[in-house]
Amino acid sequence: MSAITRDRWRSNFSEWFDWIIGEAEVYDYGRYPVKGMGVWMPYGFQIRRRVLELVRELHDRRGHEEVLFPLLIPETLLRKESEHIRGFEDEVYWVTHGGLEPLDVKLALRPTSETNITYYESLWIKSYKQLPKKYYQIVSVFRFETKATRAMIRLREVTTFKEAHTVHDSFEDSERQVLEAIEIYRELFDALGIPYIISRRPEWDKFAGALYTIAFDTVMPDGRVMQIGTAHNLGQNFTKAFDFKIQLADGTLDYPWQTSYGVSDRVIATIIAIHGDDRGLVLPPLVAPVQVVVIPIPVGSEEERNAVLREARRVAEVLRGGGVRVNVDEREELRPGAKYYYWEARGVPVRVDVGLEEVKTGVLTVVRRDTLERYKVAREELVGFVLRLFDEITVNIKKRAWDYMTSSLRRAETMDEARRWAEEKRGILEMPWCSREECARRVEEELEVKTLGIVWPLESAEGLRCPVCGGQAVTWARYAKTY
Ligand code: ZN
Repeated sequence: MSAITRDRWRSNFSEWFDWIIGEAEVYDYGRYPVKGMGVWMPYGFQIRRRVLELVRELHDRRGHEEVLFPLLIPETLLRKESEHIRGFEDEVYWVTHGGLEPLDVKLALRPTSETNITYYESLWIKSYKQLPKKYYQIVSVFRFETKATRAMIRLREVTTFKEAHTVHDSFEDSERQVLEAIEIYRELFDALGIPYIISRRPEWDKFAGALYTIAFDTVMPDGRVMQIGTAHNLGQNFTKAFDFKIQLADGTLDYPWQTSYGVSDRVIATIIAIHGDDRGLVLPPLVAPVQVVVIPIPVGSEEERNAVLREARRVAEVLRGGGVRVNVDEREELRPGAKYYYWEARGVPVRVDVGLEEVKTGVLTVVRRDTLERYKVAREELVGFVLRLFDEITVNIKKRAWDYMTSSLRRAETMDEARRWAEEKRGILEMPWCSREECARRVEEELEVKTLGIVWPLESAEGLRCPVCGGQAVTWARYAKTY
């Protein structure tokens, strides 16, 4: 009875996800009177805060500086880079009035911040000696999504948008920065046990205003693919649009090079989605607001019940002394079974049960959330045991997630194979590609999928044929049904 099940999680993922973010009090969605906007509840906010601590640490350690720019961007700034505005035009929210007065210049709720940040960089940065410069901010961005909105996944207010913006004195240095961005995201996703594949997005799906876009994608439990992070080399597109020049080492003036990269609420949505099971969340110990819950099992006389409670508190103190985030669930109105259910849904990595038996013997019952396995552990050994268990849980859920991801990748060299894959359409299909847009578009249409882009780092498909046109294949393209 204690074995974990993932039937509902897998076969009815959408419903499971909507259920668990409410049940675990992560995110209240669907009741706010503006579509596509939700509320971070206290428990969810704590998960989010720990994820953001990690995000900040990874950027700060590599010389990024945190900043905060205004939410409103005047239309005149947003329109400076023509590709950029064309890409965002139909999803921008506009502020048109101040009180009853129409504004002279409309103000956009930022959909992203390349334009206002570049404007300031052009005021602040004059020389190559100040470069590279790496800024980031963690803010809300707004997009008037016309597709169906989804809690934490497709929002009109993205409340947790980490956007980094960098400036460089050469193309080579901007290329190095894209690699650093990829390294930061690898480290972030690895720490959270989130599996990913990296693709270079096709020309027709790159960030509006970029030279190219590198994207991290993951496979959700329903087999659909979700973008969880992107990095763009912006080239000199924005610096030219803003007439932003710097002095180079040889004394000449030129437009600097830029990159930008971002992750969002989707990182937290992915932690929830990828690691969960039918009972609810399974949180990595690193970001779990409560790492161990101690449940007193009150039985017997009042004296015995008090002894159990004292022991539960003592156990919690010992764990706290070891740097563990602990909660003792002393609620009298709930039976132990109801408490198990409550904390399992919230994904607390480890549970310690304390009953009369434990008081007498000094041997505690420890249960891990990811497998529901039980252990008997002597009180003196509890801290070391729990810390080791955190490591084991971290490794186990990461491996489980990667196994699923790896099993979701398929290669096909003919359209017949691709069609068979499409009958199930779970995960990611890789096929040799000649690099012509029309061939990828044909695959998209016929299989009803999206082109994720090409395998990154680039993998040659030399000697293979494009299954659509029969021409010489250059590389491998990836296709999937996406969020
Ligand atoms: Zn082709």
